[in-house]
Amino acid sequence: MVSFFEDSGKNIAGQNVMITDAKSVLNMSITVTVSAQNPLASPGHNISIKTMKLLRNHEISAGARVNAWVDSMRASSPTRTKSTSSVTDDQVTWNLHHPSALQMFEQIIDASKGKQIVMFLDYDGTLSPIVEDPDRAFMSKKMRKTVRKLAKCFPTAIVSGRCRDKVYKFVKLAELYYAGSHGLDIKGPEKRSKSKNDGESVLFQPASEFLPMIDEVYKQLVDTTKSIPGVKVENNKFCLSVHFRCVDEKKWIELAQQVRSALKEYPKLRLTQGRKVLEIRPTIKWDKGKALEFLLESLGFANCTDVFPVYIGDDRTDEDAFKILRDRGQGFGILVSKFPKETSASYSLQEPDEVMDFLRRLVEWKQLSLQAQSRM
Ligand SMILES: [Mg+2]
Repeated sequence: MVSFFEDSGKNIAGQNVMITDAKSVLNMSITVTVSAQNPLASPGHNISIKTMKLLRNHEISAGARVNAWVDSMRASSPTRTKSTSSVTDDQVTWNLHHPSALQMFEQIIDASKGKQIVMFLDYDGTLSPIVEDPDRAFMSKKMRKTVRKLAKCFPTAIVSGRCRDKVYKFVKLAELYYAGSHGLDIKGPEKRSKSKNDGESVLFQPASEFLPMIDEVYKQLVDTTKSIPGVKVENNKFCLSVHFRCVDEKKWIELAQQVRSALKEYPKLRLTQGRKVLEIRPTIKWDKGKALEFLLESLGFANCTDVFPVYIGDDRTDEDAFKILRDRGQGFGILVSKFPKETSASYSLQEPDEVMDFLRRLVEWKQLSLQAQSRM
């Protein structure tokens, strides 16, 4: 386990703090620049929340990168809770800053008055529970029914790190927009065309040139990670996912090293971390936030002030979309999490069941308001 310093509670903002990782096999140090501006942090299960605040702002030397990745893997994949009272305090503070979207439903609806709500939904951990086998991350029938009704009320898009075809196979709703591979593969709803040969109309694939490279790295990673039990490498067409949900924590360093060495030859690919997953993507400036903007533009809301986008997601990669909404000052993000996490989302929901309740309430509200309008 990586060992960090005790949080002394002193004001150390702006200082460089040396953290010595004496116990790790790599025996290296990480220099951390402590920022005075840092909102609430992730629930480190082995690492205290206050320490995580420091890790968020770290400047890591090249040699320490593997350890930093492993720390990040831990931070983004909370599996255990702490038993101290500080957890409760942190949770209470976090909930004050990111209240439940269910409890704040009326206020949310008030804020959307006169505006077109557009829904953006992540898939894993948002519409479906996080399960051991990513190939079995099915959504419930009830959830599918709810999303179908939602799409009748508002334009709705699924934004996922997964390959678009795969996420479509899980969701199975033709009336939605799909942004797969973190938005690198976007397609609108299937048009009910008179011509049978009209086919699918792909809206946007900004990273087509990377396809052969991604395929090459996929094959390489499948081969090199064979030695680590539980690793699952998933080819998401425009990006790769290395799932470590089923990998023993003792093997995480070895896995991070293998992924790092596979990427050495490919400077045009970059690594990001999600929830229990390492993700390899082209270095082009494209993410879920850009996908959200692209979809809003495609829907005709590029420069509109009367649009109210709502993005619900559970992952660090969803933060790009939350941040876009904050910067635009339009709509808001909802983070799905049971634990406090550093986020640009405004509200929170604890789990997919709560997401379903929230979506149902939106549908009910819309149906009631349409009925009221028709009586006028
Ligand atoms: Mg997710």
